[in-house]
Amino acid sequence: MKPVRFDYARPADLAAAVALGGRGDAVVKFIAGGQSLGPMLNLRLVQPDLLVDITAIAELKRVDQTADALILGSCITHADIEDGRVPDVTGGAMRAVAAGIAYRAVRNRGTVGGSLAHADPSADWISALSALGAQAIVHGARGERRIAVESLMTGVFESGLEPGELLTGVEILRLSPSARWGYYKHCRKTGELAHAIGAYLDDPERGVCRAVIGATGTRPLVFGDAAALFGGGAPGGAIDRGFAERAMAAHGMADAIEQQIHFACLRRAVAQAHRA
Ligand SMILES: Cc1cc2nc3c(=O)[nH]c(=O)nc-3n(C[C@H](O)[C@H](O)[C@H](O)COP(=O)(O)OP(=O)(O)OC[C@H]3O[C@@H](n4cnc5c(N)ncnc54)[C@H](O)[C@@H]3O)c2cc1C
Repeated sequence: MKPVRFDYARPADLAAAVALGGRGDAVVKFIAGGQSLGPMLNLRLVQPDLLVDITAIAELKRVDQTADALILGSCITHADIEDGRVPDVTGGAMRAVAAGIAYRAVRNRGTVGGSLAHADPSADWISALSALGAQAIVHGARGERRIAVESLMTGVFESGLEPGELLTGVEILRLSPSARWGYYKHCRKTGELAHAIGAYLDDPERGVCRAVIGATGTRPLVFGDAAALFGGGAPGGAIDRGFAERAMAAHGMADAIEQQIHFACLRRAVAQAHRA
């Protein structure tokens, strides 16, 4: 099958893209890497009147560093991160996550912003960046706003972006040198979207201990204070399985086998982080 006929625009600046995105008289879709949208167009699951290609907007390729954070433009690709073409403030955590996404051809074109906006529960960045406590930067007709990545996804392929809003960047806080990170993705074949994800960050210098159970079938399950997972013991010790299972059940994950697979991923992420 081929896409429906649509108009195509490739604006060079953010204001023009936001203006096109806000057109109320047409179905407008942004396209970044096209790795998820392309197949959806071909299957006519998406039938836009206008496709706005955002890859010529320099601001969406920006890389800004402050003393304690890194801002990456939304059109930074997975391969940019994997290859270290952008700075890393996470001690290699983001590079490793990027390298585990799909295969090289997808990573060359797929973007971090496209992945977040697409809101696929099984995708890597939505879980990894939730665990890292990142912020999404969004621009629309009413200007700029920020959304915590952990709150960005509202459901399956549904995000908190309003119609016409463009995700323009992601702010990632710099980890302390002593921070510990673990990320474990379960999938049947290397390069597939995840069946289950465990992500864990322990950064005591910043007073941060976070964990995520991802690929839950909906938005990630985030433990903003992951110390609670350890049943009163030190972070990195045995996880209170009952606590984790109750949290998964409350998140809509009732199936015991799914709980077991997701719990195993979380346990492996924690073990990875606290490996000597
Ligand atoms: C074979 C294959 C395997 C894959 N495996 C994995 C995997 O293991 N892990 C993983 O995480 N992902 C995987 N993916 C998805 C891949 O990472 C895509 O890059 C990603 O999901 C979408 O990024 P994109 O830039 O291609 O977005 P596009 O396909 O261009 O867009 C996706 C959606 O986001 C919207 N959008 C794009 N950019 C923006 C923006 N800046 N602001 C607002 N809306 C925007 C579009 O309108 C569209 O609705 C896989 C994809 C394929 C084809």
